[in-house]
Amino acid sequence: MAFHGAGQQAVCGDLFPGSELGHKYFCVGSSCGAPSTGLSATPCLNGPTAPAGTPRHPTALGGSAGGGAAVPQPYSNPASEVPSPAEMEPDRPIGYGAFGVVWSVTDPRDGRKVALKKMPNVFQNLVSCKRVFRELRMLCFFKHDNVLSALDILQPPQIDCFEEIYVITELMQSDLHKVIVSPQPLTTDHIKVFLYQILRGLKYLHSAGILHRDIKPGNLLVNSNCLLKICDFGLARVEEPDPSRHMTQEVVTQYYRAPEVLMGCRHYGSAIDVWSVGCIFAELLGRRILFQAQSPIQQLDLITDLLGTPPLSALASACEGARAHILRGPHKPPSLSVLYMLSDGATHEAVHLLCRMLVFDPAKRISGSDALSHPYLDEGRLRYHTCMCQCCYSVPSGRVYTRDFEPVAERPFSHSYENSLLSVWQGKELIHRFITEHQQGKRVPLCINPQSAAFKTFIR
Ligand SMILES: [Zn+2]
Repeated sequence: MAFHGAGQQAVCGDLFPGSELGHKYFCVGSSCGAPSTGLSATPCLNGPTAPAGTPRHPTALGGSAGGGAAVPQPYSNPASEVPSPAEMEPDRPIGYGAFGVVWSVTDPRDGRKVALKKMPNVFQNLVSCKRVFRELRMLCFFKHDNVLSALDILQPPQIDCFEEIYVITELMQSDLHKVIVSPQPLTTDHIKVFLYQILRGLKYLHSAGILHRDIKPGNLLVNSNCLLKICDFGLARVEEPDPSRHMTQEVVTQYYRAPEVLMGCRHYGSAIDVWSVGCIFAELLGRRILFQAQSPIQQLDLITDLLGTPPLSALASACEGARAHILRGPHKPPSLSVLYMLSDGATHEAVHLLCRMLVFDPAKRISGSDALSHPYLDEGRLRYHTCMCQCCYSVPSGRVYTRDFEPVAERPFSHSYENSLLSVWQGKELIHRFITEHQQGKRVPLCINPQSAAFKTFIR
């Protein structure tokens, strides 16, 4: 098979050689700046108001200063494993998503480094309550290697003191934004295997009826072995089948925002995520943001500079102002040939797929699922399933491949509970019950260690 050629090591080996990764990726202390999420609430396990009988630290989380935010120290590592430099890093903040802060912490039950996400201000109002519950349910729903999911949820205190939610996910080493802006070489093999995994994860999400609505390089986590997972579902929602229902325009980081959203379309679908992936594909090739505008109107102008003035049929659902802006301007011819100049990797096949994703009219844009059938992704698929996936395995006589390379969700994600959620208190009860039920029969529950030094910075 051509796949076992010399190039294979490049992708299956280290994308980030050396031990510098931890220092490049993790931001330490004040160099991160203060969290912009306005975290101020203190979990009441640490407060004086916790009533008698409040469950505290089920896994003896008290104790050692400087220990984990979620965990006791010391932990015992499996004797056979020597921790890598990254595993020996102290617990620390690693990033801030659309909603919430993410920490790198040690799980005391097995010594593994994991990511701990704090979801703050959950019960401020009904909207935030619904949003967080939706994200939490999604994280517990996902079962796909290219979509980040919850490994665990920390045990909540008694409901009267329940203010914040902490979710544990797998810890990834970096994200695509950091890779793109780094001096690290990005070969065509890298780009193909990244794009394959983005679309593989996206097909799964869309098959569950979920729109991510904020696909951008920073929300695509990667490991040094090039495994990629889509993360941050703070803006995700279930697809709205009724075109008369209005959907918010406050989605998608501007550079990756689809033209229909920029034009104020009141209803949109999964095609907005495919547009974002198209922008990221071009960014991987050119290593710079494809449409980097200062304002939504300039964003639209940059898009029409490349794609040409859209036909009237593509403007049908645009708001009046956007339609007038486009029709008022000069007629622009398409200039798609500039895509060939993105890099040497911008082959005819690459540009062909790119042009199917960057289609102005969402009805004519390729779907995530169909994009996976494009020949450009054949090598990425083979590479992924030859040495990276968990669905295929090797036997002495060769590789046994899965029957379904790009699986869909077993069932759609249900959000019917949202309509019956009428008050913050009711939401609090529901979320509390959800977490408690989710934990039942699983591993020893964890909760925050308010005595740890890390905890004090964590609640800042
Ligand atoms: Zn596989």
